Amino acid sequence: MSWSRKALWRLCAAVRRPILLRRSYARFCAVGCSTDDLAELDRVDGSLLKRLEYLTRHLTGSNLAMPAVRVYCFGSRVTPQDVRDTFVLPDGSLAAGLCSAEQRIVVARFNEQVPLGRVLTHELGHAVLAGLTDRFPYPPSIAEGYAEFLCSLVWPSAVHRVSCPVPDKIVAPAACVAGPCFSVAELLEQGQPIEPGTSYPPGFHSHSAWLVDFLGGFGQPPETVRERLLGALWHDNVRDPHEVYAWILAACCCSPAELERRYRDFHRRLR
Ligand SMILES: [Zn+2]
Repeated sequence: MSWSRKALWRLCAAVRRPILLRRSYARFCAVGCSTDDLAELDRVDGSLLKRLEYLTRHLTGSNLAMPAVRVYCFGSRVTPQDVRDTFVLPDGSLAAGLCSAEQRIVVARFNEQVPLGRVLTHELGHAVLAGLTDRFPYPPSIAEGYAEFLCSLVWPSAVHRVSCPVPDKIVAPAACVAGPCFSVAELLEQGQPIEPGTSYPPGFHSHSAWLVDFLGGFGQPPETVRERLLGALWHDNVRDPHEVYAWILAACCCSPAELERRYRDFHRRLR
């Protein structure tokens, strides 16, 4: 048993006896949840994974079997201190959710900023994408952007353009306009591996989500660059950020200057 799994089980035992909910290929373990938390998890549990799987299969063209995912939800009765060791990021802040694709574990905690269901959707988006592409190492900006994109499809009322379920990383477009912006090239260069315990620079999640949104404007629906990218990178084994950038330029029929100008205009227009 890995250290993180051991830590989670120890945590479950220390906080409250886990409640197991039914799921075809994911096992949910709800810890310290109130009746309201459980009601929200029940709503998520009903159709979420099925929907995410359907959408991700469409985006990747994958026919692989979906591996089992273990999901741990820490509800409102669990204090941030109780789960600090599990959710702490290198900068000392606490993530709202994490996904370990390698161990096929998703963890989410109750927090004031983002509903538990939405945090879970983002993290399960990572898990489903990793599961259906054999954990293909997309650049983190692509993985984060699509996790948010899937989230916005499953929760259409959610404002995916201004937030990511990592509360400390929320950056509104206005702040972005005033502060430093990421170019597409810079986003792709962010090479941190997607693992529990990693953190991204402020604005990274928002810009990644905007990038995926932006790519939907190239080509004809339902086969826009956004719909083609995940499957193409995976099938052609394009994983190096420079090659991914070249793929995007070719798919969008843009020069680097043209692409960057259009992306900058696009995300600054968002509100
Ligand atoms: Zn994420």
